[in-house]
Amino acid sequence: MMNQDLKFNLKHIWHPYDSMTKPLPCYMISYAHGVHLKLKNGIKIIDGMSSWWSTIHGYNHPRLNIALKNQIDKMSHIMFGGIIHSPAIKLCKKLISILPKKLECIFLADSGSVSIEIAMKIALQYWYSLNKNKKVFLTIRNGYHGDTFSAMSVCDPKNSLHNLYHKFLPKNLFAHAPKSSFMNTWNHNDINSFLNLLINNKSIIAAVILEPIVQGIGGMKFYHPEYLKQIKFLCNEHKIPLIIDEIATGFGRTGKMFAYQHANIIPDILCLGKALTGGTMTLSAIITTRKIANVISNNEPYKLMHGPTFMGNPLACAVACENISILQEGTWKIQIFNIEKQLKQELLPLINNSYVLDIRILGGIAVVECKYSVNLKLIQKFFVRHGVWIRPFQKLIYLTPPYIIDTFSLTKLTRAIKYAIHNKLLFIK
Ligand code: PMP
Repeated sequence: MMNQDLKFNLKHIWHPYDSMTKPLPCYMISYAHGVHLKLKNGIKIIDGMSSWWSTIHGYNHPRLNIALKNQIDKMSHIMFGGIIHSPAIKLCKKLISILPKKLECIFLADSGSVSIEIAMKIALQYWYSLNKNKKVFLTIRNGYHGDTFSAMSVCDPKNSLHNLYHKFLPKNLFAHAPKSSFMNTWNHNDINSFLNLLINNKSIIAAVILEPIVQGIGGMKFYHPEYLKQIKFLCNEHKIPLIIDEIATGFGRTGKMFAYQHANIIPDILCLGKALTGGTMTLSAIITTRKIANVISNNEPYKLMHGPTFMGNPLACAVACENISILQEGTWKIQIFNIEKQLKQELLPLINNSYVLDIRILGGIAVVECKYSVNLKLIQKFFVRHGVWIRPFQKLIYLTPPYIIDTFSLTKLTRAIKYAIHNKLLFIK
């Protein structure tokens, strides 16, 4: 029997990427702690997703909770127009302390997608201020940058969540995605498609936008750092700003604090989100060079015309600050090293399974690419029955567990994937 709350949910509440008439099943979670989610019936399941890359230190982290509690009695929110507060100052100082010197002008926004909108507005306004008609963005296939309009316009037009909307969006340029993977040798031909598009359109390109190393929802592929290195080199050569979307990869997930560090480059515009607050609240940050900020700001009477109501929310800033303090203590490096090692040991042997096409592991990310799409409804139930929370999409079963996960819990996650792969009924052939 379905309880009243679930019935209400079914009738009235939209869920991410879902239907109102035939929604996927939903699970009521009453409590979350560490790596555990507690279902309404009291059963605890192990979280393999970190709530979509965000809850890196686990749920209900005592230090993050204290940071929130301490701030809430001072002020949970106050407008940012004409006002500054200590949580924002502290957070921006912290961000500057962990970023390259060149990145020093910070805009605090609401969510990952909105940060992409702002980064793209910044690039457009930069060229407008210089009196140049540069309005097009260059990116690569298999990319994903969020669900708002400009963000969707740089998502892969076919292989993303947004192919339906592409007919309504501004037209941008898409180079072939690189074939050289992170683990294999670099094929110098990989840059050709990007290079050609750049050379043929450089007079109209406002910026290049990329996810660094890991392409998320567009296929969970890990590309070679040399690709990013060469792109940055070309951007420098042609004076085109490079926007790096670290929303998913930032704050240690790939084994580096930021994934662009694998390629030893420095972005011109950087977008952070998701794990910025340790997965407790929504907050994003766009960080630019002084040069970009000055060009925009010196073109009077124009200013950067963006200012969300909840800009610089003090609660979110306070908890983000504590999140970065935890990261600065450095334990995450050992945690990610151990997670990667264990994921490799336990998942790589699956490559011999006839349903598995590829297995990719980098830092705290594991991807099992199957030959067939999963039946999400069935596989979700299957995973919950096996005591784990894993939410695959299309042909991809992936893990991004909280960094604090213990070996036993991680084995429960990988074992559940192994059982799923051996259960042919969970796939749509
Ligand atoms: N960029 C990337 C790489 C992402 O993974 C996401 C979120 N899945 C976004 C942007 C959008 O972030 P948000 O969901 O916070 O709007």
